[in-house]
Amino acid sequence: MPVLDRFLSSAELGRRWGAEEPPLCPAVSLAAWSWELPEIVRVVRLLWKSKGALQGTRPREQLEPEPAPGDGPGDARLRSPTGVLSERRGSYPFIDFRLLNNTTHSGEIGTKRKVKRLLSFQRYFHASRLLRGIIPQASLHLLDEDYLGQARHMLSKVGMWNFDIFLFDRLTNGNSLVTLLCHLFNTHGLIHHFQLDMVKLHRFLVMVQEDYHSQNPYHNAVHAADVTQAMHCYLKEPKLANFLTPLDIMLGLVAAAAHDVDHPGVNQPFLIKTKHHLANLYQNVSVLENHHWRSTVGMLRESRLLAHLPKEMTQDIEQQLGSLILATDINRQNEFLSRLKAHLDNQNLSLEDAGHRHFMLQIALKCADICNPCRIWDLSKLWSERVCEEFYRQGDLERKFELEISPLCNQQKDTIPSIQIGFMTYIAEPLFDEWARFTGDTRLSENMLSHLRKNKAIWRDLHHKQRTQSNDHLNEGTEKKDDQTLKEGGAP
Ligand SMILES: [Zn+2]
Repeated sequence: MPVLDRFLSSAELGRRWGAEEPPLCPAVSLAAWSWELPEIVRVVRLLWKSKGALQGTRPREQLEPEPAPGDGPGDARLRSPTGVLSERRGSYPFIDFRLLNNTTHSGEIGTKRKVKRLLSFQRYFHASRLLRGIIPQASLHLLDEDYLGQARHMLSKVGMWNFDIFLFDRLTNGNSLVTLLCHLFNTHGLIHHFQLDMVKLHRFLVMVQEDYHSQNPYHNAVHAADVTQAMHCYLKEPKLANFLTPLDIMLGLVAAAAHDVDHPGVNQPFLIKTKHHLANLYQNVSVLENHHWRSTVGMLRESRLLAHLPKEMTQDIEQQLGSLILATDINRQNEFLSRLKAHLDNQNLSLEDAGHRHFMLQIALKCADICNPCRIWDLSKLWSERVCEEFYRQGDLERKFELEISPLCNQQKDTIPSIQIGFMTYIAEPLFDEWARFTGDTRLSENMLSHLRKNKAIWRDLHHKQRTQSNDHLNEGTEKKDDQTLKEGGAP
């Protein structure tokens, strides 16, 4: 049945058109029906509203709540209580005004004006793009052949460490994640091996890409694409590659692509202190990582990408994805680092063992997630600026709502060089030292460590210059003050 006829015969149209409209008959030719402009406008509006149905997908409001893997409760999608457009219950920052009313220092925060402002903030952040009336962009490439040709050329060098993901994102019209994953699934032979349906794969990847928040300076789909590209490089390391199964590779790539999906742009302590529903749901433990995992499982099930595989296999995939994504929780850094050190000291890693392979996939994903300091300076600097911008935005929110400003989030105190030097020294360097030990100091590992040390030296230089400048500024201020005091004849 042609799309428009199918649409015309839908109950939606019948319900909305009302009794005063001409009777509907699917057999009536549309061409023979002369419509006035207002009617055409109404049909176009209804067509947009029925977009989900026209695309052959189940409308979101009909979806059952996702049963979560394991014993925990699910948070992927909820049935709309109103029966109209349902909202994907995501991770937009949410401030519980009861918390603010209860704070001792709140003073006049409970006034009507404050609460009204808070509610409008809450409404703005909590509303999904759909509820705000923004139609998701189609993932079609609208660029000319030159751009696509250049993107294709870049893909031929996707295994190079100096791959510029920002340029690739521009060349693919903001579709770097979908384009990269389709390419990698193909080159790793995963589509053939798992007999994947290309339409379902594309649908899944578009869902993942769309669920990243493009307004986040750092935790957006380009970061996911960057992590996936790094993961691809690590999966090619001979020490690992010689043992990996197609399932390991698929898990590694999907986990990298979805490891931060629906990230709200604020960290776990912020979600806890503002009593966000996700903090409550996951009882303040790996709140974001649990949400990224459960969201990924929800999208995998909704896309039916793996529906043709045996149930035990899909359950295993969902669990392994969880274990990989949960490993990216930075609070668990020491746990993973000491386990890796112990394995390397005792030389007891045996990658024929599925458990050990899974552990090294976790480590590879952790490395990919924090590999920004190991990129060439131009790319590394851009990532550093973006992540600090996201921290500062959180600090601004905390200041606005009179909450304690989180560490690293105070733009006046925490400079980009100081944040980067600390991150490189205490988090990145120890992990990449051990990774290099595992790979047997390959060219890639040495290259990464060399960039890391060079970048750290540049940040140190900048840090030193900034301190000298601010000291000069302070001294200037003191000298001026002294001059003024002397002129006024007062004591210094
Ligand atoms: Zn990440």
